[in-house]
Amino acid sequence: MRTALTASALAFATSSAMAQVTAIRAGRLVDPETGTVASNQVILVEGGRFRAIGPTVAIPQGAEVIDLSQLTVLPGLVDAHNHLALTYKEEPESNVYYLTYVLDATPLRAIQAASNGIQMLSSGFTIIRDMGNNGNYADAALRIAIEQGWIPGPTIINSGIIIGGFGGQFWPTPEMAMGKSIVYPEYLDADTPDEIVKAVRQNALFGATVIKICVDCKPWGYTTDEIKLFIAEAAKAGLKVEGHVQTVDGARRAIEAGIWSIAHDRGLTDEMHKLMAQKGIWRAGTETPISLTGHTTRERYDRTVAGLKNAYENKVPLTFSTDADYYVPGKTRGEVAIEFIETWKAAGIPPVDILRALTINGYQASETYTSRGPIKVGYVADLIAVPGNPLQSIDALRDVRFVLKEGVVFKRDGVMTPEKFFHGGPVNGWNIR
Ligand SMILES: [Zn+2]
Repeated sequence: MRTALTASALAFATSSAMAQVTAIRAGRLVDPETGTVASNQVILVEGGRFRAIGPTVAIPQGAEVIDLSQLTVLPGLVDAHNHLALTYKEEPESNVYYLTYVLDATPLRAIQAASNGIQMLSSGFTIIRDMGNNGNYADAALRIAIEQGWIPGPTIINSGIIIGGFGGQFWPTPEMAMGKSIVYPEYLDADTPDEIVKAVRQNALFGATVIKICVDCKPWGYTTDEIKLFIAEAAKAGLKVEGHVQTVDGARRAIEAGIWSIAHDRGLTDEMHKLMAQKGIWRAGTETPISLTGHTTRERYDRTVAGLKNAYENKVPLTFSTDADYYVPGKTRGEVAIEFIETWKAAGIPPVDILRALTINGYQASETYTSRGPIKVGYVADLIAVPGNPLQSIDALRDVRFVLKEGVVFKRDGVMTPEKFFHGGPVNGWNIR
């Protein structure tokens, strides 16, 4: 956990004329936490961190000045549930991801993940919780590649392989399941306490930074005690547990066990929402908008909107989450993800609270809240800028013109300029975890 700079360190940063200081002139600066806008702010960035923020901050000599005086600056966005290394498509697999898994090898999926990550970053998503379905740890490879400095991308919180009872989310044939072990590596089977412990340890060993389980993908599912075992074992590695939940009974067991976050909204009734609010369990509802034709139905969408509205009214901790794992012709992965604001608008949630779900709640669910996300002195320097004011119209987020990641400009004037992110080696230190 990092603390804010001392006053003397701040004075040093603001007075020294070092070339690597970047000064950003922000026409408007949004604080989603308070829902306020400050005008004409200067933001100093040095060594990848915010060093000073305010209306009267002096710009050191030799600093690179970035003029965003015509734009609204705000913290980066979070998608709390994506699958960057999975892209199913109408052609050739009719959006059946079981076939995608057969057709696309992990190395290809890792390259897709690199591309999808760049597309997400260009749309302003600086943090992604990547919740499994990534072949043989393509998600861990992506996270490590970004952290080491090989390629640009969002900060990745990744789950490794989804752990489920035998079969995972597949319904394979006996010959494919028993003869070919086709469930692995898309899912890790864990049907007994020993297997649960082993599966959590395998994911932790191979680079997961969160654990994802299938609570009720099969009728037998996991019991409350089994979910508790997941949580306890994951905690030893410092990891939280997200549950894929699709039934009310599954939701009840996950909530009883004290799970960190629940993915998807199908099992989340008014009663479950009240329990989640009481226990402070994150909701990653993955609310597919009707505008993404073919990915939901009118009936399903109406239920999704009503569920999100009910969760909001019950004060459930809400994250913005998409489950975007498919190709929509004409759209980048980032454009698909931001389209999900349509569902939030339809649920009648005010722009400031949609923005909170997209930012501060996302940082909290990702556990970066005290180091990365908020635009605060001492924090990692991630920010984005848009022409409009998202507190008035959340649609302003559809037009991200500027992206700063760890103090380095990734996008300027609406154009990606990622060359400073590419390196021929691990410039941020070699780390295979
Ligand atoms: Zn998912």
